[in-house]
Amino acid sequence: MRLIIMGPPGAGKGTQAKYIAEHFGIPAISTGDIFRANVTAGTPLGVQAQSFMDKGEYVPDEVTNLMVRNRIDEPDAEPGFLLDGYPRTLAQVEELDGMIRFTGHALDAVVVLTVDQDEIVQRLLQRAEVEGRADDTEDVIRRRQEVYVEQTEPLIGVYRDRNLLIEVDGMGEVEVVTQRIFDALDVVPQS
Ligand code: ADP
Repeated sequence: MRLIIMGPPGAGKGTQAKYIAEHFGIPAISTGDIFRANVTAGTPLGVQAQSFMDKGEYVPDEVTNLMVRNRIDEPDAEPGFLLDGYPRTLAQVEELDGMIRFTGHALDAVVVLTVDQDEIVQRLLQRAEVEGRADDTEDVIRRRQEVYVEQTEPLIGVYRDRNLLIEVDGMGEVEVVTQRIFDALDVVPQS
């Protein structure tokens, strides 16, 4: 399976991504997690990414694309993968198309979690207290939401036109949302 999970910041992508990946026996690849790990380790990639992340802006496409390309090339991603947080721009969509075409496979489905914006700000502020993520302050959360609407929401139409889109209600208990996703994905034919 080659899957994407999308949704606004705080929609629960990361949480659901882990369950979906486990269910299909594929790695969950989170660009946000990879960037954060690099920031913590102080790698050149982390240094490059940090200033953008701290402001709630997207890391430049060239940097992100190369990172994903390298990750997808790893042996564990050969049977498939679930991307969480990528693609986020139209340029990234094209880049991913190229990467997948190169492997001779195709994208199987794009899951979009739909959520209530107000609820989400609350969730993210709560997460800020628990996890202490540097970009979970109210100003930065709002900026991430704006950037999502401007740059990432248009991708939903692109994947809908390709008949790959699966919209799932992301509100409610984690396990309930997970079950909704499984119900929708279990009927998708695998390429
Ligand atoms: P969220 O979805 O809650 O905003 P993520 O953990 O997915 O959080 O991403 C955190 C930050 O990492 C983003 O705000 C952005 O700066 C950077 N980032 C993650 N994925 C991408 C991407 N595909 N393109 C550009 N920047 C990205």
